[in-house]
Amino acid sequence: MSRIIPCPNCGQLNRLDERQKAGDARCAKCKSALFTARPIALTSQTFGQQTKSNDLPVLVDFWASWCGPCRAMAPVFEAAAAEFEPALRFAKVDTEAEQNLAGLHRIQAIPTLVLFKGGKEVARHSGAISAGQLRQWIAQTGVLRNS
Ligand code: ZN
Repeated sequence: MSRIIPCPNCGQLNRLDERQKAGDARCAKCKSALFTARPIALTSQTFGQQTKSNDLPVLVDFWASWCGPCRAMAPVFEAAAAEFEPALRFAKVDTEAEQNLAGLHRIQAIPTLVLFKGGKEVARHSGAISAGQLRQWIAQTGVLRNS
């Protein structure tokens, strides 16, 4: 079994063998690490590629720099990225810089977490949550069951 994973740096689609250690995996094109234990920032240019052409579920944090609860949750989200990769890709969308993406996904409150699988939304949570709540929520979505 192998999985297709877009490079977080250049977007190149890479095939990752299941037995291959994700921490060692590098992009065939730009040689960047495919997993860095950190959320990746998405823009309208990269959003489609990173969420649709990806065998991994992608959890996106829609946030803004002026939002206190967003800033409070950032370290929780970052730690979870390290904890859940390579089963889940963590990403962030700055709703100030990417208002079109926020509009497209009907983001009415921030922070809002949206989980995508194959480019389709499978779960959503609005409001800041703790590390424990985040783990529980991810488990409840069932998205890790078949991966
Ligand atoms: Zn690359």
